Amino acid sequence: MAGTTDIDTLVQECRANGLKATENLRAVLAVLAEGVRHPDVEELRRAVEARGHRIALASVYRVVAQLTRVGIVETRHFETGKSRYELAKGQMHDHLVDIDTGDILDFHDAAMDEIEERVAAKLGYRIVRRRVELYAVRIEPRPSLPLTGAGGKDEAT
Ligand SMILES: [Zn+2]
Repeated sequence: MAGTTDIDTLVQECRANGLKATENLRAVLAVLAEGVRHPDVEELRRAVEARGHRIALASVYRVVAQLTRVGIVETRHFETGKSRYELAKGQMHDHLVDIDTGDILDFHDAAMDEIEERVAAKLGYRIVRRRVELYAVRIEPRPSLPLTGAGGKDEAT
């Protein structure tokens, strides 16, 4: 996934798309390539500054706009509000948003791909882009724990 993306390759790709490989651009790319997942602009800025590079929020906005325009970064709009960013080249994945904590988990399940392809084909289409977002609450007890309730009676009394 994005954690293994080579920063030099990304910088080359930026240049090929006519972007100047400024310090700001390299710093933002480095944070995303290191696998900071779905940061918003403020989290991006904090991560860049944690690496010892001062950057203004306006510059973060400018850089992510440039990177999005040339298709290196994708903007995600979850129902949590703020725009979030991730490298476009990562492995295809869907998102699960924990509505209590705001955590965003990446996942991929081939069975879902198959169902979606089948539905699209049945309607006479081929999928070119997909966006699956699940909004969820954590199950307690966790699914790995054995479930109890041998009686199986479910009706309300
Ligand atoms: Zn993601």
